Amino acid sequence: MNTPSTTQPQHPHVAVVGAGMAGITCACTLFQAGFQVTVFDKSRGLGGRMATRDSPFGSFDHGAQYFTARHPAFIQAVTARPDLCKRWSANTLCLLDEQGRVTAADHHPEAHWVPVPGMKSLVRGWAAPLMATGSLALQTRVTGLEFTSAPSKPWHVHTETDGNPGLVTGFDAVVLAMPAAQSRQVLSDSAQSADWADWVSQLGQVTVAPCWTLMLAFPQAMQPGLSALGPQWNAACSTHHRIAWLARESSKPGRDVIERWTVQASSDWSAQHLHDDDARVQAKLCQAFAEVTGIRASPAHVDSQRWLYAKTTQPLGQSHLWNASRGLGVCGDWCLGHRVEDAYLSGLALALAVVRA
Ligand SMILES: Cc1cc2nc3c(=O)[nH]c(=O)nc-3n(C[C@H](O)[C@H](O)[C@H](O)COP(=O)(O)OP(=O)(O)OC[C@H]3O[C@@H](n4cnc5c(N)ncnc54)[C@H](O)[C@@H]3O)c2cc1C
Repeated sequence: MNTPSTTQPQHPHVAVVGAGMAGITCACTLFQAGFQVTVFDKSRGLGGRMATRDSPFGSFDHGAQYFTARHPAFIQAVTARPDLCKRWSANTLCLLDEQGRVTAADHHPEAHWVPVPGMKSLVRGWAAPLMATGSLALQTRVTGLEFTSAPSKPWHVHTETDGNPGLVTGFDAVVLAMPAAQSRQVLSDSAQSADWADWVSQLGQVTVAPCWTLMLAFPQAMQPGLSALGPQWNAACSTHHRIAWLARESSKPGRDVIERWTVQASSDWSAQHLHDDDARVQAKLCQAFAEVTGIRASPAHVDSQRWLYAKTTQPLGQSHLWNASRGLGVCGDWCLGHRVEDAYLSGLALALAVVRA
């Protein structure tokens, strides 16, 4: 008779908190290296700020709009999955003045990458092996951590699901892959918060600007003879006092053809209007959108999203934090900058540190 061997080596088990680009990169790298991982995320889906929202008229990338790839490791990761990532010819990325006049066409040599069919698809595709092994705990908010005196697997993770508290035990290490403020909160609310006072202070120096985002659909532009409304360009950086960026979602590869625009308010305007309600923000941004694009038709669909943490303005200045003796690490885009690639590099660097430990 076969009895389970108690002497079999157990794979180290790592809890990864956050299923955005940084967390999934870290989790997948550890998984490939033979670690057991459990990824917790408070949201229903994967991707974090690489987000896609559906509407009756097609989807919107209401978080990150596209990304660039400069580091060889990220270029390799992106180009290895041509099924998931396509080049987006933004068909001249323009710079606009306050009145919406094109002041320069930015012929950027760098590729603009967009996952298909939506921004969240990349992280989701990469995470397929984790999904297949039941390693994802979604709709599970992590509220605190506890380092016990157990000789092995000392970490406990405190969670909340549908308002119900829970405790998941038996981790060798924990990785926090959330925006700096949220990682800081979890460290502060943890049993041994005094042990992490230095990190809490370091994370407190990181600053991240908010962003109000507007989503508009114009199905009337699909009428015969009317292929698109408004400008000939598909994406633009704007100096309008309310708007910093606009893009025609329907111009991206693998998307629905119905005319749809995503508009990002400037950091300053977003901060000034952080506590306004959606209706007020939508009205002001719709007006600015009409001024910039010349599109005065009424949209059939209007939606908005307030991102509290959008663009890092003061990064940590190092790729990650890792305490090998305790087995606790922190990563995220804000360690290095404000881009998707920064999140990837941060998650990868932390995973390699965990593997080496
Ligand atoms: C409006 C906007 C526009 C952007 N535009 C671009 C762009 O054009 N190009 C570009 O390169 N980058 C852009 N970015 C930045 C890019 O989205 C980020 O750099 C990147 O997605 C960050 O990944 P991350 O894994 O570090 O964090 P996140 O994606 O934020 O992932 C963190 C995850 O942690 C989860 N979480 C938080 N708290 C808890 C908790 N307590 N318990 C469990 N889970 C928790 C969240 O649900 C989330 O899924 C943009 C961001 C925004 C918001």
